[in-house]
Amino acid sequence: MTGPLAVVSGGTRGIGRALSERLLKLGHRVVALYHANEEEAEAARSALGPGFTALACDVSASAEVTAAVRTLTANHGPVRVLVNNAGLNVDKPFLDLTDDDWHAVLGTNLTGAFLLTRALVPHMRAQSDPVIVNIGATTGIRPRVNGANYCASKAGLMQLTKCLALELAPDIRVNCLVPGMIETEELVTRFHLRDPVARERVIEEIPQRRLGHTDDIAAALEFLVNSAGSYVNGQRLIVDGGQFMW
Ligand code: NDP
Repeated sequence: MTGPLAVVSGGTRGIGRALSERLLKLGHRVVALYHANEEEAEAARSALGPGFTALACDVSASAEVTAAVRTLTANHGPVRVLVNNAGLNVDKPFLDLTDDDWHAVLGTNLTGAFLLTRALVPHMRAQSDPVIVNIGATTGIRPRVNGANYCASKAGLMQLTKCLALELAPDIRVNCLVPGMIETEELVTRFHLRDPVARERVIEEIPQRRLGHTDDIAAALEFLVNSAGSYVNGQRLIVDGGQFMW
C-alpha cells in the first residue's frame, strides 16, 4: 500500500472508526491506536482491509506511546495526519470523583494528546501539508453537571490546540473538531437513548432535529485534512446540528 500515513487514536470504534474509514477513502494508510477492546479492533481490521493497522497503546502512558510511535514509524514511515480522538468519560458528582477518575479522564483526553503529539511531530514536519486534528467536545465550552473531569479535559484540549497551532506554524496546521451529540454506542448507553422518551428529549434540543452521524464528523475531518482547509489553523469547528451557537 502507498499513500500518506494517518494515525488515529481511538480509531477502532465509534467516531474514530469512521475517521479511520474516511482517511482510507481519501487514500491514506491508517494506524489506529486503541486501549483494550480487542474485539472491536479485530472487527475494524477485517472490515477496513490492508491499508489499516490497529495497534494497542494506552495513550495516557508515556512509555506505551513512545513504544507505539517507534513501532509504527519503523513499520510504516513518516506521518502526515494525526487525529487525537481517544476519549473517556467517567461522569460523577464532583465530590465523588476519585483521584483515579480524575487521572483516567485527563490522562486519556488531554495528556494522551500531549504525549502522542510530542512523539509524532518530529515524524510529521517533513511531510507535505501535515495536519493535526484534536477531537474536542461541546462540553469543553459549555459545562455540564457531573462532568468536571471530562469538561476540564476538553477545555484544555482546545487551548492546547491553539498553542500548538502557534508553535508548529507554518509547518503543521492544528485544529479542534468539536462533535455535538453523535450516535455512538458510548453516547447511546450514557444518555439512555434506547428509551424513546429520553431520545426525543435530546433531539428536541437540536435545531437539526436529529442526532449526529459519525459520518458528519468524518466529513468535517475531510475538510480539515484536505487542501480545501489549507488556510484553516488554530480553529475549532463545531459540528452539533446547531445545538449550541457560540
Ligand atoms: P468511544 O467510547 O466509542 O471510543 C473511544 C475510543 O477511544 C476507543 O477506540 C477506545 O479504545 C479509545 N480509547 C479510550 N481510552 C484510550 C486510551 N487510554 N488509550 C488509547 N485509546 C483509548 O468514543 P466516541 O467514538 O463516542 O468518541 C470519540 C471522541 O469524540 C472522544 O474523544 C469523545 O470525547 C469525543 N466526543 C464524542 C461525542 C459523541 O457524541 N459520541 C460528543 C463529543 C465528543 P478501546 O476500544 O480499546 O476501549
